[in-house]
Amino acid sequence: MKRQYDAIVIGSGVGGCCIAALLAYSGRRVLLMEKRAYLGGRFSTVDRDGFLCATGGLAIQTGGCVEQVCQAVGIPSGVHPSQKVATWLAGKIYDHKEGGTTRIIRDVAISDDEAESVLGALKRARGWCPPSNDISFKDWLSHYTKNEKIHGVFQATISSLLTVNSHELPAGEYFKVMEHNAPITFGFIEGGSIRLWEKMADLVKQAGGDVITGASAKGVNVEDFKVTGVNLRYQQENHTVHAPIVVSNMGPAATAKLVPKEFVDEGFTHQLKKITPTAIMWLHFSSPELLMEYSALAVGCSRRVNMIDVPSFEADGVAPPGQHLYTVGGAPLNSLEPDDIKAEFAALMEDLRDIYPDFDKRTQVLTKTCYRGEWPGFRTISGSRPGHRTTIRNLYNVGDGAGPPGFEGSMGAAKSALMVAEDVQRFSPM
Ligand SMILES: Cc1cc2nc3c(=O)[nH]c(=O)nc-3n(C[C@H](O)[C@H](O)[C@H](O)COP(=O)(O)OP(=O)(O)OC[C@H]3O[C@@H](n4cnc5c(N)ncnc54)[C@H](O)[C@@H]3O)c2cc1C
Repeated sequence: MKRQYDAIVIGSGVGGCCIAALLAYSGRRVLLMEKRAYLGGRFSTVDRDGFLCATGGLAIQTGGCVEQVCQAVGIPSGVHPSQKVATWLAGKIYDHKEGGTTRIIRDVAISDDEAESVLGALKRARGWCPPSNDISFKDWLSHYTKNEKIHGVFQATISSLLTVNSHELPAGEYFKVMEHNAPITFGFIEGGSIRLWEKMADLVKQAGGDVITGASAKGVNVEDFKVTGVNLRYQQENHTVHAPIVVSNMGPAATAKLVPKEFVDEGFTHQLKKITPTAIMWLHFSSPELLMEYSALAVGCSRRVNMIDVPSFEADGVAPPGQHLYTVGGAPLNSLEPDDIKAEFAALMEDLRDIYPDFDKRTQVLTKTCYRGEWPGFRTISGSRPGHRTTIRNLYNVGDGAGPPGFEGSMGAAKSALMVAEDVQRFSPM
């Protein structure tokens, strides 16, 4: 590690790795520092007896912002598009090859009039006037239908994509995501997500920078409202490293805590107070037999489960030979302040027994985690992000707490990196 770099990136999540690669590709010597032992944050993989389990996200939007970053820096993303996708709704499977949301709504509606009323409302909201954020998506939809299966379709999409229940999502946010990203298709990274972050770290090193793990930022140094560097703890010693650009991937609230108070104005503090992390239940299980012919299943009209991915079905190298790896997502009843996690997981297990007969006999549960608080589903609920700039010149935030409206999860994290790279090019040209 040197004392001076062109830029320092704190944290190696999706946003941190993407901006480090973009800055390195533009010729800057970058220090990418990560407090954990591995790269990728909430979008990485850890080995559990040969199964590459996700530390959080695993589905990347194909052609989306992460792949745009890969293209910009000239590395292959390794994303294998998910081909076999279906929705499980109250016990029935709808293969997406035969049509997605529109087809399912028509199938489950009690009459043609009901289907047309819902589809017409969706079309108007997307093409003419989106609903207000003052009501929830569920309240908005309830104006057009009380049909539980139609609600189940949207609960599945919203809770798996946006990590909150449809009764918690500000209605307008759903349409912002659709405006920027529909139709959304996903894929998994061959060999596990960590492979992509390692490729980005290699770019940093090839450009003369350094990548260090086990290094924790303790303070961000500022003079005259301009960032000057970072104080960090590495290998049991304190270091001060200088750089004219600092990008934080810790989340906007954690970043602000490392900055001397006088440089964070009241308006920004007010924005930070709106940050509300979301919670996800996450479970991995394995099975020697393939339990379904799909690599991704959206799940609706269940107790808690909202999606099941089978990365081993499409991506190589994520499970031992002869075994399959499954990733299950679930939304707690209250995904903003989850309560009684044990009971929440008990409900999730009941769903799995409904979806797969003899689940307990045929599978082995590998991990069970409820992500929340400082290691959340999303850093903040859609509609409450403060953006990528801060009140301090050349101090930026990247990550899912810093993307623009309509860009969520890994796509928001990568989008924030693309926006920071544009700002750096504009305000700090080489
Ligand atoms: C269970 C789960 C499933 C998900 N599924 C999907 C999905 O399938 N698709 C999708 O797009 N999104 C998904 N998401 C959301 C997605 O994982 C996140 O939006 C994305 O990973 C956030 O990346 P980030 O850039 O904000 O960085 P983070 O992952 O938050 O990483 C920040 C990094 O900074 C490090 N750090 C923090 N403080 C310091 C410090 N002081 N010094 C040094 N380093 C520090 C942390 O250790 C961490 O590695 C999921 C999330 C979870 C939890």
